[in-house]
Amino acid sequence: MKIASEQKVQFGSKEIVFELFYEARKSLGITVHPDRSVTVRAPLDTPVARVLEVIRKRSPWILKQQSYFLSFEPLTPARKYLSGETHLYLGRQYRLKIFDATQEKVTLKGGFIEVHTRNRSKTKELVWEWYKKHAELKFREIAAPWILRFKRYGVEPSQFVVKQMDMRWGSCTPKGKIILNTELIKAPKGCIEYVIVHELCHLVHHNHSAAFFELQTKEMADWVKWKERLERVLA
Ligand SMILES: [Zn+2]
Repeated sequence: MKIASEQKVQFGSKEIVFELFYEARKSLGITVHPDRSVTVRAPLDTPVARVLEVIRKRSPWILKQQSYFLSFEPLTPARKYLSGETHLYLGRQYRLKIFDATQEKVTLKGGFIEVHTRNRSKTKELVWEWYKKHAELKFREIAAPWILRFKRYGVEPSQFVVKQMDMRWGSCTPKGKIILNTELIKAPKGCIEYVIVHELCHLVHHNHSAAFFELQTKEMADWVKWKERLERVLA
């Protein structure tokens, strides 16, 4: 039988809230979920005070996991796709300008993303087609030197895919397929590089172990800066 209760510990200025389950098991298990919630499973006879003590000690690790998931969760404010609205492309703000036209096209002109359309309600669809087309070109261009560089570790992505994803900026399958979120095209080049390097490092280490972060730092010394920038730009 499982008994759940909500617990919290304070670590510096941060509060860690977690759900505690008691189970027939030998050791304490901590899981940080992609929504940043925390589950702790403890052996049946563990005093709560002991659980809190362990969680307090593991707080830096828990906060690091939570911030990792945070960085991969796009939180874009709702846009209406109307003339005058600003939209991002490669880290820069562009103003949307919509024209009634018989030929549908999207172009970047000065500080504007110009949308020519027969039907203004199609603006969002046209902008996203344009984002996707440019994401496919730009991501490949940005990734090329990095893919070459990672050959020294004997790895190479088997496939490189761009698609819209809800919860993450990038991912990597066990077979070496790298998937990047179309939405990254809104971020500066350095942020896109950071996600590409992160996923390439996963071809070498399939987890977030110390060795993984060591490799990521070796390849991209300033990755923390770009990670934080990505969080700010697309938050
Ligand atoms: Zn990762």
